[in-house]
Amino acid sequence: MRRMLIAGNWKMNGLSAEGLKLAETLAQRLQQATDYGDPPPPACDLLICPPFTLLWPLRDAIAGSGIALGGQDCHPAESGAHTGDVAAAMLSDVGCSHVVLGHSERRADHDEDDALVRAKAEAALAAGLTPIVCVGETEAQRDAGETLAVIARQVQGSVPAQALAGAERGLVVAYEPVWAIGTGRTATPEQVQEVHAALRGQLAELLGSARAEAIRLLYGGSVKPGNAADLLALDDVDGALVGGASLKAEDFWEIAAACPA
Ligand code: PEP
Repeated sequence: MRRMLIAGNWKMNGLSAEGLKLAETLAQRLQQATDYGDPPPPACDLLICPPFTLLWPLRDAIAGSGIALGGQDCHPAESGAHTGDVAAAMLSDVGCSHVVLGHSERRADHDEDDALVRAKAEAALAAGLTPIVCVGETEAQRDAGETLAVIARQVQGSVPAQALAGAERGLVVAYEPVWAIGTGRTATPEQVQEVHAALRGQLAELLGSARAEAIRLLYGGSVKPGNAADLLALDDVDGALVGGASLKAEDFWEIAAACPA
């Protein structure tokens, strides 16, 4: 049985005061729910992925709360002359357990291809992190009927199959249709379930069914309190990667609270 994961991708948002307030509010809510049970704590793991600059202060703000911390990217190399980049071991060192990789904004803004995403995922695993590998089709690809082929190609190219075999950490895969990210348009439950079922099948072929069964498949793309319950109820959806709505404590909490118990 896979426990759901609700992950907040803050993207390039948050100065220290507001970021701290957001994280502290979530930590307090979770603490209260755990202590008093009314409302009960959400039936999921919570993860926040702030900008690099906030990782250190947020690590202290959420310490002991049960909320996990993640980075939004890492470099494939262990260390070295890569100005402006962050190594996976640095994320681990600052308290991260996860790292988002291959987000469509990085694929588009930084020309990241599948091979680079896989190299980053291998580096993340080697540093003891769980990579959250993002895949998703553009609107033109969906309109051309290429969705499943695009996803299959991205999974084949980006998932660190060999490195996973000996890794202590697992993998999370996020299906994020590019046309649904930050647009307010959400994929329908039918569209999401179709892709997630195909993803699960492909991961089973690639990694074996036992390993594939353990992988959490997140949906991302304009998830909000109003649509979370329908999406999180789908058979092959094990959580959500939330962008815009993760910047409001109340919305993020309501999405988490929509996870089926
Ligand atoms: C994302 O950034 O991964 C995302 C899904 O964004 P939004 O929820 O704003 O669409």
